[in-house]
Amino acid sequence: MSSLSRQKPVFRFAPSPNGRLHLGHALSAILNHDMAKANGGRFLLRIEDIDLTRCTAEFEQGIYTDLKWLGLSWELPVRRQSELFGDYRHGLERLIAMGLAYPSFMSRREIKAFVHNHESQGKLWPRDPDGAPHYPPVDKQRPAKEIDTLLSSNAKHAWRLDIKKAITGLHRPLEWAETGGGKNAQMEADPVAWGDVVLSRSDAPSSYHLSVVLDDAAQGVTHVVRGMDLFHATSVHRLLQELLKLPAPEYHHHRLVVEESGKKLSKSDGSTGLEVLRESGKTPSDIRCLLGL
Ligand code: GLU
Repeated sequence: MSSLSRQKPVFRFAPSPNGRLHLGHALSAILNHDMAKANGGRFLLRIEDIDLTRCTAEFEQGIYTDLKWLGLSWELPVRRQSELFGDYRHGLERLIAMGLAYPSFMSRREIKAFVHNHESQGKLWPRDPDGAPHYPPVDKQRPAKEIDTLLSSNAKHAWRLDIKKAITGLHRPLEWAETGGGKNAQMEADPVAWGDVVLSRSDAPSSYHLSVVLDDAAQGVTHVVRGMDLFHATSVHRLLQELLKLPAPEYHHHRLVVEESGKKLSKSDGSTGLEVLRESGKTPSDIRCLLGL
């Protein structure tokens, strides 16, 4: 880890209760906990349950059980995103007031059809770092009157960040301090690679990107330690921090735990689940050993 400010460092583990924890989560949680301890810092737990359809109280209890079994302890109360929708709405309203967010009405099917139609003419449509197509510019081209009519008729919509507009006001290159993978480097953020990201959905009043930056700021998080799978998302997080005038934490993206085949672990894959490993007789120190810690 690079220079620590005089302020007590604050680390957090932020799982989503949409499945049981596996070895990958254990690596993230233990690294955060141990780095906080080694640096005289605080270790927080945040439950990222904005997706009300997939997150359950049972999975949330499972998180507490698994982390306690690993021997980790965290500060109370635990922050739960489902209790903070008003805060995220306020963040969204600030972006709308800045003219940087717009309502988007296209369904997944319509986006797919748009991309298919574009690509059938032999031109590639851009994809984001996760492989999803960029959102088409259709809604940004709608006349204001049509948008008003759609909104007043309660048409299903999300809110998206107009990424090109959002970067125009930046005065300097957008960067973040990265200490993962033995590095100690300034990384250049590339938020445009994501296209117009979602800020809130019709079925969830916030998006991962918006709530994570608002929460990290609200909790005074100074060090974000999380898996490499979220490395590119940091570009969007840095942009939102800049737009909303929030402090930028230091980032440490750690290696991912993968299956023997090289595939990323999934919550539905039982064999690496902490509960399954515990029931098969493994101890918390076996888990550290398995993780090479
Ligand atoms: N909730 C996210 C996940 O479970 C992690 C978010 C983060 O660490 O920034 O993958």
